[in-house]
Amino acid sequence: MSSVELTVREYGHFIDGEEVAATGQIDRLGPATGELVARFAAGTATDVEAAVSAARRAFDRGPWPRLSGAERARVLLDCVAALHERAEEIAMIDALEVGKPLRQARGDVAGAIGHFEYAAALAQDIHGETFTDLENGRMGFVFREPAGVAALIIPWNFPAGIFGQKAPYALAAGCTVVAKPSELTSGSAVEIARLITEAGVPAGAFNVVTGYGDPVGQALVESPDVDFVSFTGSTATGQRIAAAAAGSHKRIALELGGKSANIVFADADLDDAVDGSLFSVFYNAGECCVAGTRLLVEEAIADEFLDRLARRAGELTVGDPLADDAQVGALISPDHLEKVMSYVASGKEEGARLLTGGAQVDGGLFVEPTIFDGVTPQMRIFREEIFGPVLSAARFEGVEGAVALANDTPYGLGNTVWTKNVDTALSMAKRLRSGSVWVNTSLDTAPQMPFGGFKASGHGREMGRAGFEAFTELKSCYIAIGKRDPYFG
Ligand code: NAD
Repeated sequence: MSSVELTVREYGHFIDGEEVAATGQIDRLGPATGELVARFAAGTATDVEAAVSAARRAFDRGPWPRLSGAERARVLLDCVAALHERAEEIAMIDALEVGKPLRQARGDVAGAIGHFEYAAALAQDIHGETFTDLENGRMGFVFREPAGVAALIIPWNFPAGIFGQKAPYALAAGCTVVAKPSELTSGSAVEIARLITEAGVPAGAFNVVTGYGDPVGQALVESPDVDFVSFTGSTATGQRIAAAAAGSHKRIALELGGKSANIVFADADLDDAVDGSLFSVFYNAGECCVAGTRLLVEEAIADEFLDRLARRAGELTVGDPLADDAQVGALISPDHLEKVMSYVASGKEEGARLLTGGAQVDGGLFVEPTIFDGVTPQMRIFREEIFGPVLSAARFEGVEGAVALANDTPYGLGNTVWTKNVDTALSMAKRLRSGSVWVNTSLDTAPQMPFGGFKASGHGREMGRAGFEAFTELKSCYIAIGKRDPYFG
């Protein structure tokens, strides 16, 4: 249970340090109950223009990019203190809007706070390079500067979590920001924008416009005054954004979809592997970009392993996200539930064997943890991102077999390996084509570690020093020492 009780909140945009009333509204019905949990502003291109102008002014003339790194760090640490105070409330907002277990939402907020702390450290450690002996007696300085106005486009599955993977790094670098959360889960972004402004981020340096992808996201991507777009969402939307951004030559970073493998070798600690495999695919009801949705299990242990896994999957607590024992919450929307159930039907039609689950729970937006065995690489449930609690199992022999199956996907976000053999662990870690690899653990993240995808899972990295540097530009400065020879001789 939580100490916080929320009434239905009505959010405006957050522009130039103030909440701005909505011209249109989006009613958010909580996925777990079907009841109204919040009202968001349905932004327009005009709202985007106002927010981008505020961010542009704050970048070109405001104090934020011109503060020292240490001064920005102090403000970010004040944000950390303010976030700690409001953590339970923000977690509750995400739990209600996403339909995710409150205790998982608490973890997301704690993760976001960790990013603010780490970004504060990075803000104090911005440096370039110096070349002291270039030809003709010149010196070279490579400066690192803030990239400018950054648009942060955020999906619905981890509203505060993914906000945390972007916003503090942008601010630490000295960028000013317009954030656009998902139209389904906008509450925490507006709350955090207000909170960080109260903590000392100056007016205009951090703005939020809520609303639909088109027009709000689209207008941000097309705006000539936005220098950098950091997008997390589906591969299809990422492709549209890449095309739209090309017209204005802005930089983009894309964190997209996945179809990650969870690979269990016969020599694994099977207790850990069962536990970790369940978590890898059913955490956040499978609405997780790195979910280990393809279980690749070594033939020698496959029957026993799948038996154990199916039994444990059937014991997971599915239902009320606010209950203390909730493990698997609701899916985000009726449309998405329909999509997930269509993949369950497709698995059956294509000849996979349903081991457990496969049904809606109590007619709500809850789906039983579902496992298919006998899945082949040609089947849609092996190839396509389902984004729900559905695991597709296939079998392999040896390292070569595991690598071939795991890499047989258009995606490359994350892969998990369970083995006690160090050679197997290291050769798998090297040969898997994905931005993250977990060995005997799954879905871990840490602020210090960059995160992102190979192939159709995107390009660019967020988090870590690489994610921070994405919000910077390099400038090469040459300086001649003393009088130089005349140019034309
Ligand atoms: P989505 O692509 O539908 O939407 C993501 C965001 O983009 C939302 O804020 C949306 O309003 C906005 N948007 C939609 N159309 C737009 C447009 N034309 N221009 C600009 N913005 C637009 O994704 P979703 O359904 O919210 O999230 C689920 C997807 O996100 C899954 O595919 C998942 O794998 C992916 N995801 C990836 C990561 C990662 O780090 N790689 C993390 C979480 C989720």
